[in-house]
Amino acid sequence: MSGYFDYNATCPLHPAAREAWLETSERFWQNPSSLYREAGAARQRLEDYRDEAAMRLGCEAEEMVFLSGATEANNAVIAHAAAAGWERIAVSAVEHPCVLEPAEALFPGRLQLVPVGPDGRMDLEALKAILQEHRPGLVALMAANNETGILQPWQEARQLCEKHGALFHCDAAQWIGKLNPEGLGECDFLTGSAHKFGGPKGIGFLKVPQRGRPLRWLRGGPQEERRRAGTENLPGIAAMMAAWAAREAEREVAAQTGLAGRTAFEVKFRQVLPEGQIIGADAPRLWNTVLMTVPAPANLKWLTRLSARGFAVSTGSACSRGAGASDVLRAMGVAEAAQGQVLRLSAGWSTTAEDWLALAEALAAVREQLSVH
Ligand code: PLP
Repeated sequence: MSGYFDYNATCPLHPAAREAWLETSERFWQNPSSLYREAGAARQRLEDYRDEAAMRLGCEAEEMVFLSGATEANNAVIAHAAAAGWERIAVSAVEHPCVLEPAEALFPGRLQLVPVGPDGRMDLEALKAILQEHRPGLVALMAANNETGILQPWQEARQLCEKHGALFHCDAAQWIGKLNPEGLGECDFLTGSAHKFGGPKGIGFLKVPQRGRPLRWLRGGPQEERRRAGTENLPGIAAMMAAWAAREAEREVAAQTGLAGRTAFEVKFRQVLPEGQIIGADAPRLWNTVLMTVPAPANLKWLTRLSARGFAVSTGSACSRGAGASDVLRAMGVAEAAQGQVLRLSAGWSTTAEDWLALAEALAAVREQLSVH
C-alpha cells in the first residue's frame, strides 16, 4: 500500500472495520425492526452505535440518521430544503458535485453560489452580504475540500448563519477521521462517509436538526424515525463505527507524521519539478493532501507512468463534472489550461516520509521519461 496516494477517493478497509463487519453479520443479522428477542439485540446495537456517533460529534443521538454515504446525505439535505419551501439557498462554489448538482436542479434561479478567494477558502464577507440580501434558508459549506485539501472556515460560516437565521449544512466527508471533530455537531446538518476513513463503501451518516420540519427522505418503512426508510445496514454501521474509533485513536500521531512527510515531499517536489505549482500552498490544508500542477504533457500521461511505477494518484478532477474541467479550480481562478496539468496526491494514516520521498523520486524519473525540459 506504500504507493497508494488516493485516499481522498477511498481507503482500504481498516482491519477493525472488517472484524466488526464479520462479527455483526454473524451475530446480529436479524432485522432490527423485528420483534423477537434476537432482533431486539440487533436493535440495541444499532442504538448503541447511534449514541456513539452522536458522542463523537457532540450532538444528540436522535439527530443521527444512518444512510448510504455522503452523496445520499447531501442529496437528502437539498431535497429537504426544497420540501421545506425555502425560497433560496446558498452553497459554496467549491462544494462536491453531490451538493452542487441537486442544488442547481432543485433551486433553479434561486441558488446563490458563495465565492472563494484565490486561497480557495470561502469569502466570508460575500457570505455575509448574501445572508443579508437574499436571506437563504440554508447555507452549505464543506469542512475540507476533496480536491485541494483546503480547510474551509466552517465554524465562522456556521456562526454567521446562526446570526442571520439560516440553517447551516457541512459536508465533513474529508474531515472526519483526519482532524478533530469537535464542534461539528453544532452544524444543523452534517454529512460523513465511512469509506473515506477506512469503513466500508455504501455507509455513512447525516446529522439533522431536531427543530423545524422533520426530514422525510426515503419513504416506506418506519426506520430511522421515518427519516430514511429501508432495512438498516447494521454490519456496515458497526464497521463504520469501528473504523471511526480506530482513526480517532491514531489521528493525532498520523497528522504529525503525515505533515512531516508531506512537507519533505513538497521541498523535494520544488527541486525536481520547479515548473510545478502547489495549489493552495499557503492555505490551511488537510495534512494528507497535495494538489499540484505538472508541466506538459497532460496529467494523464504522468498518472499512467506513475501507475506503472506502483504509485496510485488522481488527476484531481475525478469527482468533478465536465470533461477535465474542475469547478473547484475554476472557482479559485486557476487558468483552464492549468487544469489539465493537475495531480492530486492524498496519503493515508500510515503513509511514511519514505513513501512520500519515493513518490517525489518517481516524479523525477517520470519527468526524465517524458523528456520534460
Ligand atoms: N463529499 C465529499 C467532500 C467527498 O469527498 C465525497 C467523495 O467522493 C463525497 C461527498 C461522496 O461520498 P460518497 O462516496 O460517500 O457518496
